[in-house]
Amino acid sequence: MATAEEASTALYVITDQLEEAITATKCHKCGCLQQTVEALAGTDVGRAELVTVLARARNVFLPKKYDCLGCAVCYPAIAANAFVEAYPDAGAGLDLCPTEEREERHGWPPLPGDYSVIRYGAPVAVCALNSEVIVKSLSEQKPEGLAIAGTMHTENLGIERVIKNVLANPHIRFLLLCGEDTQQAIGHLPGQSFESLFQNGLDERSRIIGARGKRPVLKNVSREEVEAFVHQVELVPMIGEQSVDVVSAQIRSCSERDPGSYPYSVRPTPVERIHAREPARLTLDKAGYFVAYPDPRRKHLVVEHYTNQGVMNCVLEGTSTGALYSEAIERRLLTRLDHAAYLGRELARAEHSLIAGAPFVQDAAPGELAPREPKDSCAADSPCGCAPALVTAESSSSSTETQDCRK
Ligand code: SF4
Repeated sequence: MATAEEASTALYVITDQLEEAITATKCHKCGCLQQTVEALAGTDVGRAELVTVLARARNVFLPKKYDCLGCAVCYPAIAANAFVEAYPDAGAGLDLCPTEEREERHGWPPLPGDYSVIRYGAPVAVCALNSEVIVKSLSEQKPEGLAIAGTMHTENLGIERVIKNVLANPHIRFLLLCGEDTQQAIGHLPGQSFESLFQNGLDERSRIIGARGKRPVLKNVSREEVEAFVHQVELVPMIGEQSVDVVSAQIRSCSERDPGSYPYSVRPTPVERIHAREPARLTLDKAGYFVAYPDPRRKHLVVEHYTNQGVMNCVLEGTSTGALYSEAIERRLLTRLDHAAYLGRELARAEHSLIAGAPFVQDAAPGELAPREPKDSCAADSPCGCAPALVTAESSSSSTETQDCRK
């Protein structure tokens, strides 16, 4: 609570700074001045001590041209700060700044993806297809009216995710489809498929009519959701457009004709979400266990396979994680899914270590080993399955430590 003297000083600063803005023509069409004046006008002080200066400020308002001109010294901002300092209770809930981030809203978007959330309450979503550079630039520039910008690479799961995330935000009324559509190496055509969805809808098997992409079938959205989506948003087709300036101009243009939030909502198809837990119990694979390590001298990954009696069965070598686990599966060196997942994880870590030149230590598999018969010692050739596990990228020799690594 400000003292009478502090309040008087604050009122002087607020009035003085607003007078500066009133005489500066650049401020008349600036969101900073207009929003600050409207916010202060809604307070008790604004209706009493500041009523005259606020009325004078309103008289100079012109149609807003920019949210904020970014001036090094902003008169309304100084006034707003003085107000909040003198009247913290009244200032706490005020919406004083038009450029303040409003981006995060818990639960939106509901599905993860390759996108940047800009602000929840804006009317435009940008789907830049395969052009990541557009998304990066827009997320830095944050043009007014932009809610979200992302890429989309496939005509089935990609389109389904856009539909679900847009339906979860009724403020979005425009979808700008821009950027590069084709990925020659893969052959998807998500942009052309999206346009076809708006033009033709789905056939009886949920295939997008007229889509030329690989598998343009939407299995994870209902017809009701698709219909609501094409009603909620207006498609702005700009496939092939790579200019961020052109896309930004279109975002502004759409924002100016924002019809307001979509009044109808559809109930999303429920999908079970399961919180994954660590396994409590670790069961050994009857086929044996593995010791994996990178061999930086030969630029190879190496996997030694041992029987559960500690006898080396064979050594697999290769240059990629996929080659090695495929060979292990082919040779039936794995009989358990959790063992296969473990081997894949350790090979991926070893491969990363090989590429980055970083040390590698084989991790233990998750879960507690089942109780064993008591033993005097626990060496690499022990039937218990303990194996030498410390391996570094600098050395392909595999044993300076022994730990129970299960496989
Ligand atoms: S940023 Fe502040 S000082 Fe600059 S034009 Fe806008 S209101 Fe005026």
